[in-house]
Amino acid sequence: IPQPVPEQIKHLKMFFGHHSFKPVQWKVIHSVLTERRDNLVVMATGYGKSLCFQFPPVYCQNVSVVISPLIALMEDQVLHLQMSNIPACFLGSAQTKNLYEEVKRGHFRVVYMTPEFCSGNIPLLAQLDRTVGLSLVAVDEAHCISQWGHDFRSAYRDLWKLKKNLPGVPILALTATASPSIREDIVKSLHLINPLITCTSFDRPNLYLDVNRKSGDVIQDLKQFLIKKKGGGFEFEGSAIVYCPSKKEAERVTAVLCKLDIPCGVYHAGLSIKRRRETQHQFMRDEIQCVVATVAFGMGINKSDIRKVIHYGAPKEMESYYQEIGRAGRDGMPSACHVLWVPGDMALNRFILNQSKSERFRDYKMDMMAKMEKYLNSTKCRRKLILCHFEDKRLRKVTSGIMGSSDCCDNCRSGVNREDPEVVLQDFGSC
Ligand code: ADP
Ligand code: MG
Repeated sequence: IPQPVPEQIKHLKMFFGHHSFKPVQWKVIHSVLTERRDNLVVMATGYGKSLCFQFPPVYCQNVSVVISPLIALMEDQVLHLQMSNIPACFLGSAQTKNLYEEVKRGHFRVVYMTPEFCSGNIPLLAQLDRTVGLSLVAVDEAHCISQWGHDFRSAYRDLWKLKKNLPGVPILALTATASPSIREDIVKSLHLINPLITCTSFDRPNLYLDVNRKSGDVIQDLKQFLIKKKGGGFEFEGSAIVYCPSKKEAERVTAVLCKLDIPCGVYHAGLSIKRRRETQHQFMRDEIQCVVATVAFGMGINKSDIRKVIHYGAPKEMESYYQEIGRAGRDGMPSACHVLWVPGDMALNRFILNQSKSERFRDYKMDMMAKMEKYLNSTKCRRKLILCHFEDKRLRKVTSGIMGSSDCCDNCRSGVNREDPEVVLQDFGSC
């Protein structure tokens, strides 16, 4: 594909402050601008997905509609864009008539909305396309469409209406979730036509991975990952997230850590939105060093210097595990990811799942759990197991030199993994 023209680079510098596109960003943007093609963009968090839907309307002087699941995330992005002199807004049912009119008159380059608002206001989008011109419609965090995932949001399933009612407008589905079955689900549910599928590597060479046994005594279990403070108590090295399998367990661990004077907060879906946002902000501003959380602590966490992600209890599936450890070491500095578990964790997970009504859902999740359990029990290179799970075709090229080293995982460090790092595993996951 041709390189960006000078005018495009000029816009990139002027509005976004970047000197060049990342190759994958340009591939996506080029396909939208010149071919008006649908896209599925799978990029690790922090890679720069937003530019893919923010650049085209700025360059073409029309508008992008962006669908996103969380209002707080959208508000952050709107603020960010406004500070860069890019007119942007969040449009919801609570907004004023005046704002609607401004949107229709093309006052904004990027218009954010929830999936619920979008599917209830398709005529507005069609009108916008006729009057101002739609660069694209972006479906951000597109994995929310998948009933298999833990971020499932039913309104996302109505978004096939976009393709039907706006046939000439490219749809850009974006996610950081790597799972092949979720990818397939996104393409099907949105009725994407011959989409360009772009996928960055899943390898995170700066993350060290290990798996340990859990005693259940929080202090006993966690003290090896905490540094002792002079005046008693413990201190983490850098920011940390401790993921727990339930709200109850998250509360229990928080109570213990607080007793030890570790500045920490708790985050789960049982707390009010206000409290959750407060905890998140305190964490971002380094007022607390540690957040003890359930899977609910996820989307929009973009802190670059998280040094530790600890799973206190067995993760339920590779997809969520990979997303959660992916929050560590965004700045590229060495960071560690520890799992503490006992086989009983899995038994409990299975017991809970057995109460699920849908057989298909249950079978799928049971299968995912079995894969996770295999990972936890494995003596092979953990980095390779993960990459294999996500079918990274560039496995050999990307990882040679990292696998088998002491920075890689517990199995490579201790030498129990005796396998030639260049041999791709045959007996795991989708390999
Ligand atoms: P994602 O949505 O993929 O998690 P974002 O779109 O939020 O990532 O971008 C993450 C960071 O990367 C932002 O700080 C952004 O400014 C930066 N970034 C994006 N594109 C580029 C680029 N071409 N050059 C340099 N930095 C970039
Ligand atoms: Mg994003």
